[in-house]
Amino acid sequence: MLSEERKHLIEEACGVFGISGNSEAANLTYLGLHALQHRGQESAGIASLDHSGVLRIQRKIGLVSEGFTEEVIETLPGNVAIGHVRYSTTGESSIRNAQPIYASTKFGQIALAHNGNLTNAEFLRKKLEQEGSIFGTSTDTEVIAHLVARSRAKDIQGALIEALAQLEGAYSLVCLTKDFMAAVRDPRGVRPLVCGRLGEARVVASEQTAFQLIGARFDREIAPGEMLIAHKDGSEKWLKPFNAQRPTPCIFELVYFARPDNEVFGRNVYETRKQMGRILAQQSGVEADLVIAVPDSGMPASLGYAEESGIRFEIGLVRSHYIGRTFIEPSNSIRHFGVKLKLAPVNSVIRGKRVIVVDDSIVRGTTCRKIIKMVREAGAKEVHFRVASPPTTHPCFYGIDTPERSQLIASSHSTEEIRKYITADTLAYLSLDGLRQAVRAEVTDGESNFCDACFTGRYPIPVGSRQT
Ligand code: AMP
Repeated sequence: MLSEERKHLIEEACGVFGISGNSEAANLTYLGLHALQHRGQESAGIASLDHSGVLRIQRKIGLVSEGFTEEVIETLPGNVAIGHVRYSTTGESSIRNAQPIYASTKFGQIALAHNGNLTNAEFLRKKLEQEGSIFGTSTDTEVIAHLVARSRAKDIQGALIEALAQLEGAYSLVCLTKDFMAAVRDPRGVRPLVCGRLGEARVVASEQTAFQLIGARFDREIAPGEMLIAHKDGSEKWLKPFNAQRPTPCIFELVYFARPDNEVFGRNVYETRKQMGRILAQQSGVEADLVIAVPDSGMPASLGYAEESGIRFEIGLVRSHYIGRTFIEPSNSIRHFGVKLKLAPVNSVIRGKRVIVVDDSIVRGTTCRKIIKMVREAGAKEVHFRVASPPTTHPCFYGIDTPERSQLIASSHSTEEIRKYITADTLAYLSLDGLRQAVRAEVTDGESNFCDACFTGRYPIPVGSRQT
């Protein structure tokens, strides 16, 4: 049941960017996407509004720098542009599903760039299909375009609000029409979305890293449920068109997904990860000679672990930056091979030592098993694996690309069984309380003000039968 359902679902773990009021809008969007590349490496796309009010769009498979040459960017003139980078998916990985999505409606042309997953997309899609809609992609985002197109509102702003009000799940969305650029975050605020200024121009992005690269000033987070309408003439409207809900930002952004040179949900990502490492050291101390990180994901936590434990930090694994993340490979066989392509041990550091290896999370357990083998082959006397988050027991339905539940090793194995499988001498995870403490979560009656469903199975937005 689950795998059948997931076949139809395209997991939208992505990054979005938008700029209004700069003559180099497409160029700056290219740079913004470059700084958001960690959020998606499978495809990239930019839509701009040219001087005659026509939407132009380019979508390319691969990294932003691969697809968007100077010639391509020259085809995207205008002062307003939005962009999207898309993560590897469990579904089809084709240009068909790349974003921004484009639609021509009775209100005019519209382009949409979306980060997050809608939990009622399947339901809405079936309903729309029954009523005659024809879908060209398998993304959630196209559902939004259809809802806009069918709206009876008097203008496109009203149609967009009416469409969004029907959605459940996670969306940080940037939208381009001939009249305005809109940026909107779902009422739960699951995925990040920030706004700022580059001179007079309005900029929005999934993460501030995009602003840092282009020299834009960060203003603030777009609040959960908030919508910005930035008109071409520079005027703006801030709306709160949806019913308020308890915000539940994604804790995994802080564990793994967001870039560490950044603030997300008001937390400094680097410091928060270091704190996870410190608390992990308090909870799972072990005698050893060295602390090493799985680069890059385990780096801040391992520094925190070393600091707290007083055990020396060394670079024991070196990462090649010339391939993407291991998860970008769609097939298992390539991913297994990919670990060696990606990481190499520093033999002289590791040989004869009792080594603590720190990473941010274990998903399937396959990567860390390979890493431990590699560290042993480099001559480690003992290998102690430390994970700076709790066991990942449940998949994400709100926009982090996780495999289905049966593939998550911690969904069906105890820590001791996982230790045996990954062949570590000892294995310990950060506790849920420790993680909540590190992110400064507020906990009331056992419920935190973050979504931590991947560690608890408590989904703040109903996901129906997919949960099991
Ligand atoms: P594994 O050893 O196969 O369980 O993979 C764990 C590795 O995947 C860790 O290094 C994590 O940093 C990384 N990871 C965790 N979640 C994700 C995700 N959603 N996408 C890509 N990589 C991830």
